[in-house]
Amino acid sequence: MRIRTRRRTFLYAVAAFLTGATRLFGRSLKRLVPNRQEEEAAARAELANLREKRDAYKALVPGRDLQNYERIRGGGRTVAVATLTSDGACGNCFGMIPLQVQNEIRTGSGSVACEFCGVLLSAGDEEL
Ligand SMILES: [Zn+2]
Repeated sequence: MRIRTRRRTFLYAVAAFLTGATRLFGRSLKRLVPNRQEEEAAARAELANLREKRDAYKALVPGRDLQNYERIRGGGRTVAVATLTSDGACGNCFGMIPLQVQNEIRTGSGSVACEFCGVLLSAGDEEL
């Protein structure tokens, strides 16, 4: 009998907790949902804006470089372009790039991929 009473008391306590939690969650959800919809709309607008910018930049990139970039990005990688560090390493994996290749990158004579990690290497803004 005593165990049953304890169990019943415990179950009432759990039920009271769940009822309170459900009410609290419901109130919080009502407060959050309008904000979430506004945030989602803002995020969609920002995404559309970024896609427009991306398309504008795409027009400036030579076709072969763009194909290489799209190929790398299409493979699910998050980094497709890295800058060459001042000491001649890949900015992504920090593998040392051979001197001749560093010169090709710095003179801008074409798109060069890192032989270690495969990202496209650029000289970076300070080198231009
Ligand atoms: Zn690399």
